[in-house]
Amino acid sequence: MNDELARLQQFLSGRIWPAGKLPFDESVIAKAKERQLIDDVQAIEFLKGKPSCRRCRCASFDTYIRYYCAKCDKICVYCRNCIQMGRLASCDTLVRWIGATATTDVKPKLQWQGQFTAAQARVSQELIDSVRAKRSHLVHAVCGAGKTEILFAAIEIALSMNWRVCVATPRTDVVLELAPRFQQVFPDVTVQALYGGAPLATSYSPFIVATTHQLFRFEDAFDIIFVDEADAFPYTFDVALQQAVVKARKQDGVTMLVTATPSINMQAQFQKTGAYSFIPRRFHGADLPVPRFASLWFYDKQLQMNRLPKKIARWIKNCEDKGQPYLLFFPTIALMKQAAHLFSVPAVYAEDAERKEKVLALRNGEVAGLLTTTILERGITIPRVQVAVIGAESAIFTASALIQISGRVGRAQHEPTGDIVFFHHGVTREMDAAKREILRLNAEVN
Ligand SMILES: [Zn+2]
Ligand SMILES: [Zn+2]
Repeated sequence: MNDELARLQQFLSGRIWPAGKLPFDESVIAKAKERQLIDDVQAIEFLKGKPSCRRCRCASFDTYIRYYCAKCDKICVYCRNCIQMGRLASCDTLVRWIGATATTDVKPKLQWQGQFTAAQARVSQELIDSVRAKRSHLVHAVCGAGKTEILFAAIEIALSMNWRVCVATPRTDVVLELAPRFQQVFPDVTVQALYGGAPLATSYSPFIVATTHQLFRFEDAFDIIFVDEADAFPYTFDVALQQAVVKARKQDGVTMLVTATPSINMQAQFQKTGAYSFIPRRFHGADLPVPRFASLWFYDKQLQMNRLPKKIARWIKNCEDKGQPYLLFFPTIALMKQAAHLFSVPAVYAEDAERKEKVLALRNGEVAGLLTTTILERGITIPRVQVAVIGAESAIFTASALIQISGRVGRAQHEPTGDIVFFHHGVTREMDAAKREILRLNAEVN
């Protein structure tokens, strides 16, 4: 194989890429086709008449949009679900590598001298056992358990067996945080970080850290995928991510799930095979802060009438008097925006262009607090932060969402406590379930 083809092999191994968008010369692609190293597949397949996108495998019928296609001068169908990565239509094709896949002979040497808690050491070993047995595994770790370090040894073993490794997460922030950490502890291995807008590296890497969307660009690629959903609120049980993982993993590959809020079903399923690890304690050993409930009747009406409920005003004043930063969660953007003028702190929401700056301002103490919806930076470990949920009875605040929100509080070693209050117009089952689960976790002994 000549150099050009070898480079194409490096790039395309395990990938599935829109034809015409490959970062290679047409002549190289033609040569690869001639030697039957690549083939074309239809971007949108019709399975029993139903459209199915080969890239994202979205099963929802509403995703597929019929439109007049100028290229074909007829009605074609495109996939709306993965349009962020460029439109794929029924008349487009995707290119796959079908020759021998690229490999690298890595001798990873883990460079890490940190200290494990007893629980971390135990779970690290349990993960190693599952890697050796090549079975999928669930790590159930509370927010703030210190889970990244737990993966190191398992990854080292997987890499040394020449497995292709992926760490997948729903969020770009998490990729940006994790990739340099992995690179640091595995200096002999090239760790590729894939997220929207990342520069496209064409070399082969045995170790990839990717967002959900970038994972869709792979097929049958990985021997092992670590799914980091632990702090990914509000994306827990991201269906798209689970789908992407199944597609990007090799048929005989395994999945290592790390989450703070696994469903009962999921726990039972993994407990059956013994591939279940549990860390009920934060790395600093202190209890998880337990939410308290405070009634706040007709809070929405009050806010709509431009009145700041006294209980909220008092809670904020208390934080400000103590110099504690705070987060106020709202159930909807609409209510938050409407009420924003009643508060002296900025509001952040998903499409907010200044989201990062505002969070940074809170971290630096330039603002006293933030109003927010359920979307909020992960890695928002703000020392001493206090949290209030307004309208905790709203449907958007599921038990797992409330557990994750509560998990923002008391993460720092030197101040592992704090206030988490659910202001509500009636206590819901989800609120009860969240509180019960936190109490249960606190009652567990490592
Ligand atoms: Zn799609
Ligand atoms: Zn067309």
